[in-house]
Amino acid sequence: MNPRLSKSDMLVLCIARTAPIRIIVIVENMDKVLGFIKENEQRFLDELIEFLKFESVSTQKARQPEVERCAEWLADNMRNAGIENVELIKTKTNPLVYGDFIHAGNDKPTVLIYGHYDVQPEDPVDLWDSPPFEPEVRNGNLYGRGTADDKGQVFTHVKALEAFIKSGENPGVNVKFIIEGEEESGSYAMTDYLMGSPDKISCDAILISDTSWFSDDIASITYGLRGITGLEIKVIGPNRDLHSGTYGGGIENPLNALCGIVSQLHDRYGRVTVPGFYDGIQELTQQEKDNFASLPHSDAEYAKDLDVPMVHGEAGWGTLERISVRPTLDLNGMYGGYTGDGHKSIIPSYAVAKMTMRIVPGQKWEDIQQRTADYIKAIAPPTVKIEVHPEHGGNPVVAPLDSPGIKAAAKAMEVAFGKQVVFTREGGSIPIVELFQDKLSAPAVMMGFGLDSDNIHSPNEKFKLTHFYGGINASAIFMDEYSKSSK
Ligand SMILES: [Zn+2]
Repeated sequence: MNPRLSKSDMLVLCIARTAPIRIIVIVENMDKVLGFIKENEQRFLDELIEFLKFESVSTQKARQPEVERCAEWLADNMRNAGIENVELIKTKTNPLVYGDFIHAGNDKPTVLIYGHYDVQPEDPVDLWDSPPFEPEVRNGNLYGRGTADDKGQVFTHVKALEAFIKSGENPGVNVKFIIEGEEESGSYAMTDYLMGSPDKISCDAILISDTSWFSDDIASITYGLRGITGLEIKVIGPNRDLHSGTYGGGIENPLNALCGIVSQLHDRYGRVTVPGFYDGIQELTQQEKDNFASLPHSDAEYAKDLDVPMVHGEAGWGTLERISVRPTLDLNGMYGGYTGDGHKSIIPSYAVAKMTMRIVPGQKWEDIQQRTADYIKAIAPPTVKIEVHPEHGGNPVVAPLDSPGIKAAAKAMEVAFGKQVVFTREGGSIPIVELFQDKLSAPAVMMGFGLDSDNIHSPNEKFKLTHFYGGINASAIFMDEYSKSSK
């Protein structure tokens, strides 16, 4: 994910099912399916470990052959599971893995399952307690790169469908898979493929497991994500690094100028000062506002958890709103001049800052990117040259809460994990989701099994084993529940 979501990214919309947890009676065939899953848990885990050994890091060209081998392994595993029409769809970069099982009839809904088999780079390796590509089970968790993001999660759906097929049961819905190999580096091939609205992946709902629960104890279904866009700005000064004694005070220091520019991007109320930045933002519904108030959150605990003196953000909004339904502008990195050990008294010839903006419904990434670029050029002092380089982006997404798919997912999570389920709008982004909804005219259903403590994108990434097995059950129950909804 593009960056997936820590607790800090999460917003809980707690439509707490205040009614006591109901014992859901599982129909006969589901017993067989869930029984098959139980009997095969160890094999499923062994297969997942094989899947994880592939160093399928899409951002590093040198590992492209490994990414391809990972795609082939996944395709073979899907064929062995009984999934049909499995193929590697060739693209300019990494293949898309497709497969389906269309046996529920035209009057039954079709669910498209999306995920990704590429993973983030593992560095710094020395901070891992076990080798990142030699998965290891410790304390009920499976450790390794890609365990939670996203191989462990997407694999739950492959194994759930296998359980139906191998039990001789019909899942009651038509199932399609499209699993990409470039999510962590911009999803270009998936975007190209989607732009054609290919009928091959037409569906009634898009099921995605690449998100996490609100907390270790509160299961959640995600119905919204922030979008993202980014810029790199380069402030250019003299044609070489200069002696600060000889030239200092005589010309503009590009690093000083850069600091001057970025310090103007927020006002003292924590608001972004880019003109029109907040224009058109969709208002929160009263229900959402009520739910914010009902959420289990403590700023003191939050600050302690992150080891910061206190929380900070846009005035007039609470922390949970700030991290998920309010737009932001963050510097991700800055450099210029001498950054090595000791000192070097120079005026650097240039300075660079990288920033991303998280955007919310009502904002469009190209528009926010252009407004920010124009503003930066406008406030840059005339004493330096400035370049603004746009980065890739994606729009925010909100899925309809009342969609049959979301209802089926909530029920499936409740049964599979025996927990109350809340609905979340998360602060992170999966840019492709909005495009999926737009190009396939189908709502996204984000049924995640991750936890904010899973260290995704970081050393010692892990996936809770009970969430892997529970996820397979949830996927199977989702298919059964969704089959009861009419097209
Ligand atoms: Zn991911």
